[in-house]
Parts: sequence; structure tokens; C-alpha cells
Amino acid sequence: MSLRDKLKALEELQQIDLEAGGLAAEAAALPEKRARLEAGVVAARKAYEGHKARLDGNEREKRGAEQMLALERDKVKKWEGRLGEIKTPREYAALSREIDIAKKTNDTQNETLKALALQALEIRQALDAAADALSEQEMAVETELKALTAKEQECQKRQAELAARRADAARRVDPGLLARYEGIKKRRAGVAVAAVVGQTCRGCNRNIPPQLFIVLQRAESIETCPNCNRIIYSSDAVNPPAPSPA
Ligand SMILES: [Zn+2]
Repeated sequence: MSLRDKLKALEELQQIDLEAGGLAAEAAALPEKRARLEAGVVAARKAYEGHKARLDGNEREKRGAEQMLALERDKVKKWEGRLGEIKTPREYAALSREIDIAKKTNDTQNETLKALALQALEIRQALDAAADALSEQEMAVETELKALTAKEQECQKRQAELAARRADAARRVDPGLLARYEGIKKRRAGVAVAAVVGQTCRGCNRNIPPQLFIVLQRAESIETCPNCNRIIYSSDAVNPPAPSPA
């Protein structure tokens, strides 16, 4: 393996690692996105169930009030029937008073039923709106979750491809150089290898000394940038343009 080939492999390794870094960040953001989408549905379902529980409560109250009302009405009817059989005015007055009280209670119960009916109307509207919101949310999230799953699969596929390409590139760099690459990468925010374009190191954007520039043109040695300590290479020297057909 010529040094030029090793430099070429290093250049490739760097590109693969940068791409893999971006991909890993992309993949790492996906579970949070999934959780956010699912939380949205959970919140919408909770809102719906809250209204449903209120409606159930309202209906229970209504049934209770109706039962009470029916009982009281029977009582009034019975008492009114008994009035005709009463002999003394005192007893008559007493039962009449009981009947009045029962009738008033029934009026109150009727008011309660009216209020409950109004409340039920409001709750039903809120419940319908919540049901619409829930199904909209579920549909939207379903589409987004599908896209998310596709994205996760794509990320995994690309990660596997990159891992294979990386193994191949790493094989073409000798172990000592690879270890040096990893060390610099750790210290230099993930970028260990930089091309020199013109006379400028693309790693730190500073010029390198002219004599070093000349050395780089030969691509026969591993050189580092005197400023940022990254491994540098001349892109033209490492990847010479294909000779034009004569
Ligand atoms: Zn540099």
C-alpha cells in the first residue's frame, strides 16, 4: 500500500466518520420525536376521556334525579288520593302541607334536570370536538410515525453501509496511522484529516509554510498542519486528475 493510497484511505475515513456522526445525531433525535408524537395522541385521548367521564357523571345524576322525581310524583298522587278520605280538617291541612312540600321538591328536581340537560348539551359538544381532535391527531401521527419508522430503517441501513465502508477504508490505513487518526479526531472535534487547498489548511483555514506545501505535492509522507496539528494532504496530489486521453 503506497503512502498516497493510505492518505486516500484516511481522507475517505474522515468523510465516512463525518457522515456517520451526522447520521448518528439524526438517529439520536428520532426516539424523542416518536415520544413527542405519541404524547400528543395520549393527551388528545385523555382530553376525550375526560369529557366522556363528565358525560357519564351527568347521565348518572340525571337518572338519579329522574328516579327521585318518579318516586315523589307517585307519593303526591297517593297522598292526593288519600285527601278525599280524610275526616278532620287538621289532618287534611297537615297532608296538604306535605303534598306542597313534595311538589316543591319536585319543582327543584325538575330544575336540576333542566340544568343537567343543558350541561349535557355542552359536554356533548366538547366531547364531539375532542373526538374529532383525537381522530385527526391519530391520523396525522400515524402518517408521521410511518415516516419516522421509514427514517429509522433508512438510518440503520445507511449506518450499516457506512460501517462496511469504514471497515474497508480502515483496512487500507496501517494500524499506527489509524491510531494517530483516532487520537487527533478526539482532540480536534471529530476532524483529524484536512485537505490543503491553495496553501490553506481546510482544518483551521490558516496558510501552511511554502516548503510544506511542496512536500505535500509529493504525497510521500504523513504531514501535519503546524497550526492545528491535523494530518494534512494535498487533494490534487492524493487524487490526481485522470490523464486526459491524448
Ligand atoms: Zn490546520
